[in-house]
Amino acid sequence: MMKKALMIILMAGFIILPMIIWSRTLYFNASGGLPINIYLGIYIYDFGRLLALIGFMLIFFQYVLSSRIRFIERTVGLDKIMRLHRIFGIVGLVMILFHPSATFIGNFLQEQDQLFFHPLKIVGLVALLLLCLMAGIAILYKYVNIKYETWKNVHRFIYIVFPIAFFHSLRLGSDTQKLSLKIFWWILFGLYLIILIYKIAMRFYIRSRPFNITRVLQETHDIWSLFFKGKIKSYKPGQFLFIQLIRNGKVSESHPFTISSSPTRDELSISVKSVGDFTSTIKNCKPSELAYIDMPYGVFSFLNYDAKNFVFIAGGIGITPFISMLRYMYDTKLGRNIILIWGNKTSKDIAFKDELEKMASEMPSFKIIHVMSSQQDWQGEKGFINAEKIKKYVSDFKDTQFFVCGPPIMMKNVIRDLKQLGVTKNHIHYERFALR
Ligand SMILES: Cc1cc2nc3c(=O)[nH]c(=O)nc-3n(C[C@H](O)[C@H](O)[C@H](O)COP(=O)(O)OP(=O)(O)OC[C@H]3O[C@@H](n4cnc5c(N)ncnc54)[C@H](O)[C@@H]3O)c2cc1C
Repeated sequence: MMKKALMIILMAGFIILPMIIWSRTLYFNASGGLPINIYLGIYIYDFGRLLALIGFMLIFFQYVLSSRIRFIERTVGLDKIMRLHRIFGIVGLVMILFHPSATFIGNFLQEQDQLFFHPLKIVGLVALLLLCLMAGIAILYKYVNIKYETWKNVHRFIYIVFPIAFFHSLRLGSDTQKLSLKIFWWILFGLYLIILIYKIAMRFYIRSRPFNITRVLQETHDIWSLFFKGKIKSYKPGQFLFIQLIRNGKVSESHPFTISSSPTRDELSISVKSVGDFTSTIKNCKPSELAYIDMPYGVFSFLNYDAKNFVFIAGGIGITPFISMLRYMYDTKLGRNIILIWGNKTSKDIAFKDELEKMASEMPSFKIIHVMSSQQDWQGEKGFINAEKIKKYVSDFKDTQFFVCGPPIMMKNVIRDLKQLGVTKNHIHYERFALR
């Protein structure tokens, strides 16, 4: 809570400080008996400067948020980071798009000569075009088939957009000629470099400590678990990692997976459903092959929101954070009331079946409800997880923490149902299995 408050104060301060410096110039501009078009021109031009200052700060925030900084990720959580990232991206782009037109109109009204092909303006235009490309891909990927790798590579432009925008504003901006803002801008650039160095150092660190694959285990017809040996960093059950597999000397793209093992056990594991290019090759992994693992990330752990009662609601492969938490609870003999409501298409999709049954038989406070959406002869609950089914098995909606993980549409509906059942927002926790 303290960390969150500190972050909000810091971010607000980063926006307000340049605004204060900017506002101190307004009084001087407004003085003197000037014609109306000049006044108007001054105000529009000043507004254009303000757009640039805030837009620049938002680009900086975008850079920080997408840099996978553990402190931020653990404080805010991935989902909130992504939401902020989207909002800052859109607002920042709109501001920066309006900045050149506002300064142009402002100068025009003030009857000032304008140099269109000024090299520093072209530098700013390059940053703007790169930003538009990033935003375009981020918006369009939902409608056009854009591969994740392409989307990610275009997102990496942020590493060059920031220094370009910095150079443009430092050399051309009138506000950045003031010592106070100049110092602040250089501090931002210093932070940019520190983060860049941190990222490069992390990369070296991770690559200097590869993990060994020890086992590959088939859990269901399309889910495989990989087990690893190596320098495992301490983690909480429910957190996730980023993995790169090394095959034939080639390092794969980094992919996020929930850690399905429990910190109470020696081996580290992930459990992967085959859905695409990378995940469909998991079954071909061999013991002794190497992997780079960057861990741990995420705040989706019951340890962060401890309570007497827990309801875990999973859809398909969304079981992985719960199996990790359940393994932890089982190993530590934690006396909590837990209900797992797990939706799958058919009983063939149920992973960890024997282990879960063993846990349920040995932990009287743990109950599993399977819900099958596409199996007519299933003897238990059928259809989708909804308010009616949740109400049937859960009696206490006040002193219970609810955790939800599964396909996006299932999560959306379940979270809506939980709210309708009177569960407050701070008792609902969820993890999306998507980074965009
Ligand atoms: C926090 C988190 C935890 C996850 N935990 C699990 C888990 O425990 N088990 C599991 O099976 N899956 C998990 N996933 C999903 C898993 O990361 C994707 O299914 C996998 O990366 C898809 O890769 P692909 O190339 O096989 O599929 P593709 O068909 O290429 O991609 C399918 C979708 O997966 C996403 N994706 C693809 N490549 C990447 C990448 N390099 N990085 C991030 N996302 C990508 C994209 O949204 C894409 O549209 C998790 C995802 C997140 C964000």
